[in-house]
Amino acid sequence: MNDYTRLITYLAQYEVSVSDEQIRKLDTYYEMMIETNKSLNLTAITEFEEVLVKHYIDSVSIIRDMDMTKDMSVIDVGTGAGFPGMVLKIIFPSLKITLFDSLQKRLGFLDEVIRALSLTDITTCHGRAEEAGRLPEMREQYDLCVSRAVANLPVLSELCLPFVKVGGKFVSYKSDKGSEEVAASPHALEVLGGSVLKEDIFTLEDNDMVRNLVIIDKIKECPKSYPRKPGTPSKKPL
Ligand code: SAM
Repeated sequence: MNDYTRLITYLAQYEVSVSDEQIRKLDTYYEMMIETNKSLNLTAITEFEEVLVKHYIDSVSIIRDMDMTKDMSVIDVGTGAGFPGMVLKIIFPSLKITLFDSLQKRLGFLDEVIRALSLTDITTCHGRAEEAGRLPEMREQYDLCVSRAVANLPVLSELCLPFVKVGGKFVSYKSDKGSEEVAASPHALEVLGGSVLKEDIFTLEDNDMVRNLVIIDKIKECPKSYPRKPGTPSKKPL
């Protein structure tokens, strides 16, 4: 098994402890990802230490700003190979998670991981966010929406905010470009019912990669005309 000391130490700073079983689950997930990555494009980084920091520790970094031990419903929009949603579920088992993506093959991989790890209260969902955000069973149903590396913030807000309950939060995992994207977003956020609570800018571990967790409050209902049809948010950003 790989050495997860860095992750365990990272989580301990936030008083989160993980069992041996949770670590074994993370390791099985890693091994399955590397194996599947030979035939299906899941991740550009495969070396263990890099995955540990850039995928696993990055995914859990939201604990800097949010109490993840609560019983929350969470949707991960554009989850890809499961980041951050799958890692959050393994570390914080009380979360109810929907892993959402438009690429069925990646969700097929995540279904295999869910089965192999016997995870409950986690489901995959296939579709375009522009369409799913209009479905009554998904619209404004989640306490928290997370998303990493899917689109720039004005576009992403239209894909994500419709899923969030009024009073809930949308946390966008951004890089050093995060502040620029926030500066370009006031109109989109105003229209969609979002308000930036804060930007949490930091570097990960001994890595000098800048991360910016943009925390957005859902302060009012999203107008019925949003999200617009697939492709429109990126072609004509708000
Ligand atoms: N979040 C993962 C991560 O950080 O490693 C994956 C990022 S990957 C670059 C972007 C993912 O978003 C892809 O899996 C893609 O299929 C999905 N995606 C892009 N646009 C989408 C949309 N409109 N609706 C649903 N999924 C979308």
